Amino acid sequence: MTHRKSTIQLPSMTPGTSRAITVHHFGKRGARPKAYLQAAIHANELPGAMALHYLMPMLADADKRGLIKGEIIVVPTVNPIGLSQLAGNNHLGRYDFLGRDNFNRNWLDLSDAVAQRVGQRLGKNAQENVALIRAAALAELGAMRPLNELQTLRVEVMKLSVDADIVLDLHCDQDAALHLFISRRDWPGPAQALAADLGAAATLYNDPYPQALTFSGVNGALWARLADRFPEAAIAQACHSTTVEYRGQHDVSHPLGESDGRNLYRHLVRRGIISGRAGKLPRLKHEATPIGGMDVGYSPATGILVYHFAKGTWVKKGQAICDVIDPADARGPKARKPVLARTDGLFYSGKQNGKLVWPGAVVFAVAGAKLLAHRKGKSGLDD
Ligand SMILES: [Zn+2]
Repeated sequence: MTHRKSTIQLPSMTPGTSRAITVHHFGKRGARPKAYLQAAIHANELPGAMALHYLMPMLADADKRGLIKGEIIVVPTVNPIGLSQLAGNNHLGRYDFLGRDNFNRNWLDLSDAVAQRVGQRLGKNAQENVALIRAAALAELGAMRPLNELQTLRVEVMKLSVDADIVLDLHCDQDAALHLFISRRDWPGPAQALAADLGAAATLYNDPYPQALTFSGVNGALWARLADRFPEAAIAQACHSTTVEYRGQHDVSHPLGESDGRNLYRHLVRRGIISGRAGKLPRLKHEATPIGGMDVGYSPATGILVYHFAKGTWVKKGQAICDVIDPADARGPKARKPVLARTDGLFYSGKQNGKLVWPGAVVFAVAGAKLLAHRKGKSGLDD
């Protein structure tokens, strides 16, 4: 049996406290393909941890039966710093209290360092390049001497992910249908199969890759950035890295966890990491759409947020997706400020009904196929 559990100890930041990350390893070290799965970088997003709760015993069983051909690393809750953020009976977990960083930004773009280390040696042999780049990335991480807890977390976690063939970073939205953020370089290819296996309602691609230094962004974009930098060399997109948004924060249940765990397992079989029959690919719900076609609605005022549609509804340009209601205004319908869709597409994400919002708060996202002038140059991340 290959299943083992290890611990990454993070440096203590205050006397008497220390935190650690639990890591599960399945399959032989160095076996290919390698998949890396983690959940809860935003520590208050637990549907992905629930999917892994169901996936891990399936992997342990496959391991007992000798079915794991590649290597699988599972980190069920990757961010113990965020997990510890209890404040006034609320669990926070999205921003670091020390540096105020969003936990899913400012991951390490290793492309410059890798270019310095092995750029001259990258040639026409794609397989050799993959090995050179992975070794250089790991050497760079190995040479880093992070001081504080969060920097250490980022370096140590990337040591587990940077040489993987598949990276799945499991998040969720506040209230949403299941959707994926991918690199255009992975579509259709591996990302289409992933979207179908996971049952994604929407798939949004960054073109050509995510500019923001999100975790899944840096792992995938390492290859794309090097390919752009060395156009003469044969550099494959050797890491298919995806952010999976497992619906909304409250979508944690046994039935969802179980079906999400099964879907992840089936995809690992389909990718040849586990022996078995993946079966027919489920029907893809919607084609991928560009991030530049994603319409984002912002609240024009403060007030009570109320929606007209359920998440996952197809909407038309000009339709009111939600109202922001001034609770002190007695004029009934006149107290409501509608927020309109500016494209045709899938209304896949919002907040929960009845919450207070404020000017500029994101109140919805619609995945549309058409590039939108008002979204040009925007990253799609509103923190
Ligand atoms: Zn998140």
